[in-house]
Amino acid sequence: MEKIGLIVPCYNEEQSIKLFYKTTDQVFQKMNQDEKKYEPEYLFINDGSSDNTLKIMKDLQREHPEYVHYVSFSRNFGKESAMAAGLNNINGDYVAVMDVDLQDPPALLPKMLKIIQTQDYDCVGCIQTSRKQNPVRAFLSSQFYKVMDWLSDVQVKPNVRDYRLMTRQFVDAVLELHEYNRFTKGIFTWVGFNTTYIKYPGQKRAAGHSHWSMYQLLEYSLEGIIDFSDAPLKFATLVGGISCFLSIIGLLFVVIRAIFYQDSVAGWPSLVSIILLIGGIQLFCLGIVGNYIGKIYLESKNRPKYIIKEKK
Ligand code: UDP
Ligand code: MG
Repeated sequence: MEKIGLIVPCYNEEQSIKLFYKTTDQVFQKMNQDEKKYEPEYLFINDGSSDNTLKIMKDLQREHPEYVHYVSFSRNFGKESAMAAGLNNINGDYVAVMDVDLQDPPALLPKMLKIIQTQDYDCVGCIQTSRKQNPVRAFLSSQFYKVMDWLSDVQVKPNVRDYRLMTRQFVDAVLELHEYNRFTKGIFTWVGFNTTYIKYPGQKRAAGHSHWSMYQLLEYSLEGIIDFSDAPLKFATLVGGISCFLSIIGLLFVVIRAIFYQDSVAGWPSLVSIILLIGGIQLFCLGIVGNYIGKIYLESKNRPKYIIKEKK
C-alpha cells in the first residue's frame, strides 16, 4: 500500500475543514474501490487561527487517529511557513500541498497520481485557467508573472497554484533549501526534476473568505522577485551608470559654453529639477539595495520559520 501525504494549511477555516475532509475521503474511497491501494495521511497546519479551527482539527484527529494529524503554530506565520512545516513533518511516498477551501479540487488527485506513476514525472502542478477576480488584481497578477519571467532564472508558470503532487525524492530535495525568506513556487521550480502541469477551471471558495489583501499580494510578488533574481541590483547599477554618463556630458556642455563663449547657462529651475531627478534615482536605487540588505538581515538572524505549540 502506498501512502499519500496531504499538507493542508489552515488559517481561520472552521467552516471548511470538515467539508474538505469529507470530499477528500470520498476521493480516496473511490481510488480504493477495487483494492485498497492508497492510504492518506492528512496533516493540517493551524496557522495561528483565532476561531475554532484547532478544535475542529483535534476532533477530526480523535475520530481518525490513524489518518489525521495536525501541527499548531504559536501564532500566524503565513502560508509559506505553514507549507514549510508541512513538508518537514509529512510522511508518505507521495506528497500533495492543498488549500482547505476546496479551491484545489481533491478530485484531481487520481489524475495527478496517474501521471506521476505512468509517465516520467516527479511533480504535477496545477494551473488555474479561469478565475473570477477583480480586473485590477487579474491585470497586476498577469504582469507579475511577466516581470518574474523576465527577471529571474526560475520560470514560474502564470496562474500556477501551490497545489501539487510530488514524489518523496522531490520533497526531500525541497527540504534541502533552508531559507528563511520563502517563495515556495520558486523553490519548487528551482529544485529541478521533471514537472508537468494540468489545467482546471478556477473554483469558488467553499466557505469563508480569502486572506490576501492587495498589499500582501504586492509583498509576495516582491518576495518572488528578490528571492530568485539579482536583476533589480543590476538595474540599479545600470541606472546609476547612465545618469552619471549623462551628467558628465551635461557638465562638459556647461563648462565649454562658459569658458569659450562666456555664456554661463542661467536658470535655477532646470538645475533644481535635475538635482531632484538625480536624488530620486539615487533613493530608488538605494531602496532596491535596501530590500536585498533587509533579506540578508532576516536570513542571517537564522530564526526558525515557525514555532510549533502542539502537534499530534
Ligand atoms: N492560509 C494560511 N495562512 C495564512 C493565510 C492563508 O495557512 O496566513 C491558508 C488558508 O487557510 C488556505 C490557503 O492558505 O487554506 C489559501 O489561502 P486563501 O484561500 O486565503 O488564498 P487564495 O485562495 O485566495 O489565494
Ligand atoms: Mg483560497
